[in-house]
Amino acid sequence: MALFKKKKYIRINPKRQVSTTEKIIKPQIPDDLWEKCPKCKKIIYTKDMSENKTCTNCGYCFRLSAKERLKLIVDEGTFEEWDTDILSENPIDFPGYDQKIAAVRKKTGLHEAVVTGKGFINQHEAVIGVMDSQFIMGSMGMVVGEKITRAFERGTALALPVIIFTASGGARMQEGILSLMQMGKISAAVKRHHEAGLLYIAVLTDPTTGGVTASFAMQGDIILAEPQATIGFAGRRVIEQTIKQKLPESFQKAEHLLEKGFIDKIVAREELKKVLGFLLKVHGPVRRQVDD
Ligand SMILES: [Zn+2]
Repeated sequence: MALFKKKKYIRINPKRQVSTTEKIIKPQIPDDLWEKCPKCKKIIYTKDMSENKTCTNCGYCFRLSAKERLKLIVDEGTFEEWDTDILSENPIDFPGYDQKIAAVRKKTGLHEAVVTGKGFINQHEAVIGVMDSQFIMGSMGMVVGEKITRAFERGTALALPVIIFTASGGARMQEGILSLMQMGKISAAVKRHHEAGLLYIAVLTDPTTGGVTASFAMQGDIILAEPQATIGFAGRRVIEQTIKQKLPESFQKAEHLLEKGFIDKIVAREELKKVLGFLLKVHGPVRRQVDD
């Protein structure tokens, strides 16, 4: 009887090799289509995120590249980039450093971990420096130090305020002691800018750590930070192991530092341009890009 006949199923061989044709027709999904929010863990469709790159669920600020930051902050078409011709060398012959720099340059399209220049923010002129964490974690080597120093020196000569967006893992270990010397060099330039009576605003973004925190990030006349940015010197794990104590969850977060008086204000990313424009207006001469 047909009723009791064994039903025929298709047999699937798990060891079967996928043919080349099948591999080709497999749908290709771009890597940057979705982003997972590190804070609320929600998966966000990147096209739903605004230009500000903040989480649509909890407001977490994703890390921005220098290019994205400049687009958000500087008036369109006013940014003039400086010192693009200073390139890193391998001063202590660190193995593999030349290759690493070449690969990161190619991947990011950046010369180094900081972009400097001048531009207008809501029609107020300022020297602007933006560090980019995509370039060896925004680490500070000789080129970063030199570019930031020159930015302050030009700011002093042009009597312009300076705004630096920090994002850094600290000093660049591949350049040894020479990277640590940048802390003193930049600090001296900040001092001369300060003595000329000019304004310096540091905007601390996620992450700002190590030698950058220990120098110019904390030397601003006004220090702003983005919400929930990690700001500190040594890493959490190193401190916990040293003091043999568990640190609170809020440790090294912008909110905690505001409470302890290290920073002046936490500014939401969508408000940042407006706040910077206001600070430039009240602390310096109004310089209009276009006479009206
Ligand atoms: Zn979120």
